Amino acid sequence: MDNLWAPWRIQYIQAKKTKGCIFCQKPKQKKDRINYIVVRKKYVYSLLNIFPYNNGHVLIAPFRHVAELDKLNGEEKLELLDLVIETTKILKAILKPHGFNIGMNVGKTAGAGIDAHLHVHVVPRWNADTNFMPVLTETKIISQSLDELYRMIKP
Ligand SMILES: [Zn+2]
Repeated sequence: MDNLWAPWRIQYIQAKKTKGCIFCQKPKQKKDRINYIVVRKKYVYSLLNIFPYNNGHVLIAPFRHVAELDKLNGEEKLELLDLVIETTKILKAILKPHGFNIGMNVGKTAGAGIDAHLHVHVVPRWNADTNFMPVLTETKIISQSLDELYRMIKP
């Protein structure tokens, strides 16, 4: 896999870690538009990554605070995969990517920013997207595109 050049992520890397778990807090706040929560199911939900590796970067997490896959129950597992599939369908229809990176980083060593609450990354990829990414250097531009993206993919 090519490395994506994502300079706006420096804010995330430098930001002081907020107390508590954002994957638990955000759905409880009932501010789905502000938190970019896209879809709520019974056991899992999806939200836009506000520090995206690429346009259309969506995260899917269980509501329950669970660190590893083997702690999910049967219904959560099924719904998690269903929502990954549903998310790729929505992104395909709207953003027309050429491919996806879909995956999880389990544990800090594996690169998880938040390792206590598991989440699946769905990252759309376009041919030569490593070339167009440097155009998007302003955080402001990214946050505007997040709002736009949210309106586009919110069912
Ligand atoms: Zn949590």
